[in-house]
Amino acid sequence: KILAQTNGNKIIEKIKKLNSETLRSNNINFNISTSDTSDILTYENELLQVLINIINNAKDALLAATELIANPFITIKIYNQDTSLVLEIEDNAGGIAEEIMDRIFEPYFTTKGPASGTGLGLYITKTIIDKHLKGLIEVKNTDLGALFIVTIPNLEN
Ligand code: ADP
Ligand code: MG
Repeated sequence: KILAQTNGNKIIEKIKKLNSETLRSNNINFNISTSDTSDILTYENELLQVLINIINNAKDALLAATELIANPFITIKIYNQDTSLVLEIEDNAGGIAEEIMDRIFEPYFTTKGPASGTGLGLYITKTIIDKHLKGLIEVKNTDLGALFIVTIPNLEN
């Protein structure tokens, strides 16, 4: 657990190195962008793991429905809000059924079946955000898919 100064551009550089397969394969249009962002002090490795878990879910959802989606995309926007860094991860895989919305962060909750899902991804994600990063995670459905909003405070003060 290493505290580091990070910002939108640093996160983009790292995610492009780490997640290159998701970026290039499967016809998924992967967009990641940032507005001019200031540094925040946070646990950067844990934040990257959070981002990867959410991206992997978006990818799973897109691939599961891929024949139905003309233009599968994952769009990530990173920006500053007050002293926090906000990361929005959006896909067009159809979203999350309302009846499971309040269960997706439970350990072992998965809709993917035992061969492909452990149901631990979002549980770990939320645990990291709550306990380590002291941040917040929200999820909502858009017209096209799911939107995860992660707000990470600057731990420096
Ligand atoms: P797993 O990926 O192993 O199923 P997670 O904890 O990562 O477990 O996710 C839990 C569940 O949340 C998934 O099985 C899926 O039903 C739902 N989910 C998560 N992200 C998305 C998404 N982007 N689109 C649709 N459903 C999603
Ligand atoms: Mg997962």
